[in-house]
Amino acid sequence: MNDPMYAVAVKSEELANKVLSSGRNVLMCTSDEAVYYDIPSRKKIHISEKNTDCFFDDLDIAEYVPDKGVYKVYQANSIENALVLSDKCNSSCVMCPYSDHYRRNAGVVCPEQVLKLINYIVTYPEHLTITGGEPTLIGEDIFDILELLKEKIPKTEYLFLTNGRTFSDREYFERMIDVLPPYTCFGIPIYGDSPQSHDKITRADGSFVQAVQGIQNLMNAGIAVEIRIVVSRLNCDNLSNIARFILKYLNKAFTVNFVGLEMCGNAARNRDLVWMDYPETFSFMKEAVNILCENNIRVGIYNFPLCSVEKGYWHLCKNSISGYKIVYYDECEKCEVKELCGGIFRSTFLLEKPEVKPVN
Ligand code: SF4
Repeated sequence: MNDPMYAVAVKSEELANKVLSSGRNVLMCTSDEAVYYDIPSRKKIHISEKNTDCFFDDLDIAEYVPDKGVYKVYQANSIENALVLSDKCNSSCVMCPYSDHYRRNAGVVCPEQVLKLINYIVTYPEHLTITGGEPTLIGEDIFDILELLKEKIPKTEYLFLTNGRTFSDREYFERMIDVLPPYTCFGIPIYGDSPQSHDKITRADGSFVQAVQGIQNLMNAGIAVEIRIVVSRLNCDNLSNIARFILKYLNKAFTVNFVGLEMCGNAARNRDLVWMDYPETFSFMKEAVNILCENNIRVGIYNFPLCSVEKGYWHLCKNSISGYKIVYYDECEKCEVKELCGGIFRSTFLLEKPEVKPVN
């Protein structure tokens, strides 16, 4: 298989020359063609006759895979960029938006490629998500990756999405905090208030004990942790107990977010076990939200359309669905709060067609 090669996208000769002089490959995008300038081989490769200048902006990063084409892997003017460090996972959540089949057969992410990609970031991103699968499964190389990010773009806000289990290992944890960029927040899911209730959802024995220990290690070191409670039929009647558990054992959480389902992958396969319509889900969440708010824990509600949430809780709702995944219904056009509403996942719309109620 041909290894991917990176290039900085540019639209002018002037910028191309600047990027080339920094030792980085260039993808020159014009209205007629895209040309890839590969510095090591001094080759100029004509990629496409098509109009790529509307697809790439200056300083985006393109990945060129010989015989396949070019893909955008980093968007210079976006706050939704992500570094995927592993597509595999050591848990197997019943409502994961990826399927077990995908996780099992996912290729291994090459750490050298990740380091190369980071070196192609020539803008200063406000926000960057580190994610997977479970990103820590990339192994020891994660320390080099974090160290490079800390050295190159230390002021970026990082969101590190993980199941938190690896951070229960004290030695690993100590090595990680040494190289961690300063503005990093960890997003870690808790699905239950006990090993039984959490592990039946992750389908990984020991995952609750490890995740809680990992979160406590992070919090005790003064590192921000966002706890994510993905709400499904499997834990809807346990949410208040989870809130009380958080108050008792994880009360240094930076924030607790209640997360609605993205109905694809395992979630779609297990839809009879997990799916509940949004208003019903909200009715189960309400007491847990109140418990946390009353105890001064910051709370967010992710992935819920506004019309499924009581108006008094709208200020907690976040526009959390990535732009390319959002769907609005035709009736949303007559909704007075469409501008504020984060919409619905495309996959959930296609599978469940949840009812929406335009707000007047
Ligand atoms: S009707 Fe549509 S735009 Fe309005 S709150 Fe519901 S989902 Fe959002």
